[in-house]
Amino acid sequence: MAACREPEVGAVLEEARRAFHKEFGSEPTLAVSAPGRVNLIGEHTDYNDGLVLPMALELVTVLVGIPRLDGLISLVTTSEYADEPRRVEFPVPTAEQPLEPGIPRWANYVKGVIQHYPAGPLPGFNAVVASSVPLGGGLSSSASLEVATYTFLQQLCPDSGAVTMRAQVCQRAEHSFAGVPCGIMDQLISLSGQKGHALLLDCRSLETCPVPLSDPGVAVLITNSNVRHSLGSSEYPIRRRQCDSAAKALGKKSLREVDMKDLEAGKELLTKEEFRRARHIVGEIQRTSEAAAALSASDYKTFGRLMVESHNSLRDDYEVSCPELDQLVMLALSVPGVYGSRMTGGGFGGCTVTLLEASAATRAMQHIQERYKGTATFYLSKAADGAKVQPL
Ligand code: ADP
Ligand code: MG
Repeated sequence: MAACREPEVGAVLEEARRAFHKEFGSEPTLAVSAPGRVNLIGEHTDYNDGLVLPMALELVTVLVGIPRLDGLISLVTTSEYADEPRRVEFPVPTAEQPLEPGIPRWANYVKGVIQHYPAGPLPGFNAVVASSVPLGGGLSSSASLEVATYTFLQQLCPDSGAVTMRAQVCQRAEHSFAGVPCGIMDQLISLSGQKGHALLLDCRSLETCPVPLSDPGVAVLITNSNVRHSLGSSEYPIRRRQCDSAAKALGKKSLREVDMKDLEAGKELLTKEEFRRARHIVGEIQRTSEAAAALSASDYKTFGRLMVESHNSLRDDYEVSCPELDQLVMLALSVPGVYGSRMTGGGFGGCTVTLLEASAATRAMQHIQERYKGTATFYLSKAADGAKVQPL
């Protein structure tokens, strides 16, 4: 039988508490959690002011900690992380001595949020990070770490911002401290996910609209390809630039302002590659809007068809898929009871997401595991809540 992970917040919290006791010799007094996410449809649209339809996962990053009075911050992660230290210590930033990114790289996500946190003064603290979100798997462990950090800092020094401002602070942290020019989706969904709902996010207005997804007869299966091609990090900024230059050539602020008719009419103004990139974005925004309507109407068949169209467009026009993701999607689609499947996240590895009849989940996992050329890991997750304070 294929292994399926269904980790509970409680288990991650317990792991963090144990590690805290071991590292700091005391009990933590504060605990927060922030979920990873899977994007059901709307890929690479977020940085084009477009629509996305993610849901928060039961997979979470947890921070437990305790304030300290000497102005130092001491951080530990329980995650296996490259060969860099798992513990790091630095002073609370001041106007004269701001934080800067450095080694270990994992701490940059935390440091960035501390540096950009809009309230103060912050005290020092000891904290342990533990997570059930796979690192680098496309389920946004990075945003869950940023949002968990933000939520932890709120316990030390309350802020007074709106949720969109919080998401922007976390996004800025990822831009300036991790060097990843990500959109706003991951941080927004990790902050404002709602149990039993996907969330339609308009990345132009930052408006959110919950879409019910709690039918017990339907399941969301995430399949981790367990590959990550290095191409991803270099191609992502290239795609962003291509989208920006396509919009500019068409005289628009962003590709959100462009429809298929505009695009066809302006074809001559774009390079062939820009045209295909733009066609993915314009089509994907339209598909996402249709998919949200289909989900609201419990029309899973239509939703599934749109997922497949999304995958094909990401593979052929946007060129961010890879053979492993294509194989996982094909395998899923050959299982009876599967409505649709597609790559999810930035691409070049990571995960696929499959919408299927709940009763078909075991069959699908078995089928995929037996035939996939690599080793797949599965997550069956319901749509979960966003970040919260956890009782200790
Ligand atoms: P994804 O967000 O898809 O998981 P990213 O490459 O954006 O992938 O982010 C993964 C990085 O985030 C890790 O390499 C690590 O630096 C950092 N990270 C995320 N969660 C943790 C954690 N629990 N402990 C330490 N670092 C983490
Ligand atoms: Mg990430």
